Amino acid sequence: MFGLAPYDLPWGKVKKAKRPLDTSLLIALLNPTIALALGSAFLVLWLHQRQHPYLGALAASYSISAIGFLLQHFMLPIGMAGTKLLSNVSFTIAAACLSSAVVARYGRRVPYVGIAVMLGGGLGAFCWFLFVTPDLTWRILAMNFGFGGLSLLIAAELRTVRHNGPVEMILFVLSLVSGANFFVRTLAIVILHGPFITYEGFYSSSYWTTAVLSHALLSLLVALCLFTAAALDIMHTLKAETFTDPLSGLLNRRGFEERGLLLLERCSKANVPLALVLADLDHFKALNDRHGHAAGDRVITDFAAKLRMATGARGVAGRIGGEEFAVLLPLADLAAARLFAEAIRTLYSSGSVDGLPPGTKVTASFGVAARSGGEGLEPLMRRADEALYKAKRNGRDSVRLSYERPETVFVPESLSVG
Ligand code: GH3
Ligand code: MG
Ligand code: MG
Repeated sequence: MFGLAPYDLPWGKVKKAKRPLDTSLLIALLNPTIALALGSAFLVLWLHQRQHPYLGALAASYSISAIGFLLQHFMLPIGMAGTKLLSNVSFTIAAACLSSAVVARYGRRVPYVGIAVMLGGGLGAFCWFLFVTPDLTWRILAMNFGFGGLSLLIAAELRTVRHNGPVEMILFVLSLVSGANFFVRTLAIVILHGPFITYEGFYSSSYWTTAVLSHALLSLLVALCLFTAAALDIMHTLKAETFTDPLSGLLNRRGFEERGLLLLERCSKANVPLALVLADLDHFKALNDRHGHAAGDRVITDFAAKLRMATGARGVAGRIGGEEFAVLLPLADLAAARLFAEAIRTLYSSGSVDGLPPGTKVTASFGVAARSGGEGLEPLMRRADEALYKAKRNGRDSVRLSYERPETVFVPESLSVG
């Protein structure tokens, strides 16, 4: 599929070629060179991103197709028929890898049966017209139609994700173009220049050079799209890592602020309340000193897990400092956020942490502030922090609220125009 050329190339009879040898060699080596370069590039990407198996499948696809192209040009000692068969088997495996990789990249179930029917049908017919009823024209048609059908099958799979972004749309269009390329161009070759009785007749077709070039071009365009998709995947992974605290699995301060600002904006647009809860573990330095840093880490992980469970998917929870946590609760006013904080405080101070000596009490203090009007994240955090400070001064293991009104009420543009 896509840019793979399943042709019975004529170069088994290079001696009889009318085309100057240097040009034919250059054209013959174009596709394997491109395929090998792309295969190596995907291999390097995959070695650095093992969590994306589709990159490995792409590396295999392009590398195996390079073998297929080379076998079109260089005949093996096993003879012409054996070499052509091996070449087309290589193209078939490469197409299977490429189509599975593209579908898997988009998290869709790979249609193995469809792929097997298209490729098995094409290769089976190819073998029939190679060994049983030898006919070059039908061999060309068999392989091309198999690949054409596979391209359209992939286009059908990509149809559902084509609106996800420009890369998806381009890949979808390329699958369609690739399908048309295999069906329409092959038929055009056969009608205008066929039937091909010998390789020489096929080779003398003036259409052939453009066929090889169109494969090279399609192959490059598809690879470029897949590289872009892979780059976006890697950027997505890196961004997620940049925003995640490795110890607790919660967002770090940066991630909390970025996600928090988005949540504030969404709440402003929907005109719903939002509240912030800050939490700080009590006497944590002393706990570290007494039980060791590793035990301290376990306490942080344990508290974070409870906070994440209580927050759910709608809120935003983060570890914004060593033993400081923040939770943004949409649809919550001061009273609701206070209940949330009290629930965690009670649950936490009455429980125990695995790995700490039985009876060791770990507590936390909480500061709560409800958003007023279009108040920004920074003043909201400042008010919650002041409430938390009050909780610390009042003996810790408690929840304190901010009743203060913010000095400035920010009205986001979205509210003033909408
Ligand atoms: P307070 O009740 O007033 O909050 O006292 P505290 O001891 O909890 O606060 P303080 O700010 O004095 O100390 C915080 C301690 O948290 C100091 C630091 O060693 C510890 N800490 C910060 N990050 C980590 C971490 O990732 N793991 C562990 N084990 N300890 C940490
Ligand atoms: Mg602290
Ligand atoms: Mg503390």
